[in-house]
Amino acid sequence: MMILEKKLKFYGLKDLEKIPQFNQLPEEQKFETKVVSHVLPFRTNNYIVEELIDWNNIPADPMFQLTFMQKGMLANDHFNRMADALRRDLSKEELKEIADDIRREMNPHPAGQAVANVPVLDDEPVAGVQHKYRETCLVFPTGGQTCHAYCTFCFRWAQFVNMDDLQFATDESKRFQQYLKEHKEISDVLFTGGDPMVMSYQKLNAYIEPLLGPEFDHIKNIRIGTKSLTYWPYKYVTDKDADKIIDLFDRVVDSGKHLAIMAHVNHHVELSTDVVNEAIRRIKKTGAQIRTQSPLIQHINDDSKVWSTMWKKQVNLGLIPYYFFVERDTGPKNYFAVPLHRAVDIFRDAYSEVSGLCRTVRGPSMSATPGKIQVEGITEINGEKAFVLNFLQGRNAKWVKNPFFAKYDEDAIWLDDLKPFFGDKFFFEKELDEFIQKKTDQLGKNDIHVVNF
Ligand SMILES: *Cc1c(COP(=O)(O)O)cnc(C)c1O
Ligand code: SF4
Repeated sequence: MMILEKKLKFYGLKDLEKIPQFNQLPEEQKFETKVVSHVLPFRTNNYIVEELIDWNNIPADPMFQLTFMQKGMLANDHFNRMADALRRDLSKEELKEIADDIRREMNPHPAGQAVANVPVLDDEPVAGVQHKYRETCLVFPTGGQTCHAYCTFCFRWAQFVNMDDLQFATDESKRFQQYLKEHKEISDVLFTGGDPMVMSYQKLNAYIEPLLGPEFDHIKNIRIGTKSLTYWPYKYVTDKDADKIIDLFDRVVDSGKHLAIMAHVNHHVELSTDVVNEAIRRIKKTGAQIRTQSPLIQHINDDSKVWSTMWKKQVNLGLIPYYFFVERDTGPKNYFAVPLHRAVDIFRDAYSEVSGLCRTVRGPSMSATPGKIQVEGITEINGEKAFVLNFLQGRNAKWVKNPFFAKYDEDAIWLDDLKPFFGDKFFFEKELDEFIQKKTDQLGKNDIHVVNF
């Protein structure tokens, strides 16, 4: 397949009007997008604009919704405050102050869980590492704390607008390696971000290469969580360092480790271009596997047909459907959230339309403080409706695969909205509270805040 080279061009807030397709839109739509982009971080790129968005289907187009801000993404009060400020032509500094106020009110860091996943080495927290499930350690490379475009629904936006001091990122230094060396129970290292694949070959290699050495024999699987496959597939095809990246993947596989690309794919449209198909072909040729995951998001993929079409397409391309997430309850949740009972319906309808090869996917799953909790379905107990829940991953591994029940609630969108069906606490709550207390004591006043994965 002959793919023409494309040079990556980012579009941010100040470039909105330089996007010819955007400029054609009605003034009202343009103004709304501009208002919201002054608060939430906007970034798209020339590939998304030219090859993924259907500009004849605005504003409904899922790829437009995925990277362009919409009015409903802010509360009315917040929207009006910023719209007024722009109409009054306030200074840059004044606009920033208003934006920061609104952002603080939106609270991207759910309280209380701030410290729970941070590991400790020699009595000091290990920056840029989260270790929640015994086998798998998350690493956040400093150079990978941004993305090829920003998803409108993303809860990591605080770090993209510099509200955060990036204390949870790590450099290439030996500290995270030391932690991995000392923890032989860890079999999987998952590089995440932002997007680690925004890093140059050289940076990426500095993180991965050392793990191929003998002192990391216990690390069997290296995973890279990334959206680059569908936001910038040229990374693997025509970019300057594309061949070196592919060569690095080859070396990981040749070393005897499994390399898993955890690709974030929200809609089947993202798998439709020649360049993404070529990127998939090149990655798979190294022996790496590509597993896919996505949250369920209103306005983007809240339709079972979108999922069944996407999973079929993925399996056809040799990708492995992995996780179907419930969108977390932070950020512009009113715009994106889908109630749990609808998530169950959409998952079930999609799942029942595909062959067993697609049914490697698991969900709907909430990545909450106690673990990854799957909503298995809705049942009746003594004539009363109940959610059936289960841990896919637990902070305590013993919690996994013990079905439990919550009262049915039409409006519930997250674990916090649920009440136990029996008794007044879920079976894991006491232990979880004790754990968080212990961790808080251990880390003392270090006051690091961490996104709750
Ligand atoms: C999802 C997740 C993992 C990986 O879990 P798997 O089920 O092994 O894919 C690891 N750590 C955290 C914090 C996670 O949220
Ligand atoms: S690519 Fe991932 S980290 Fe980046 S904005 Fe999208 S969801 Fe967030």
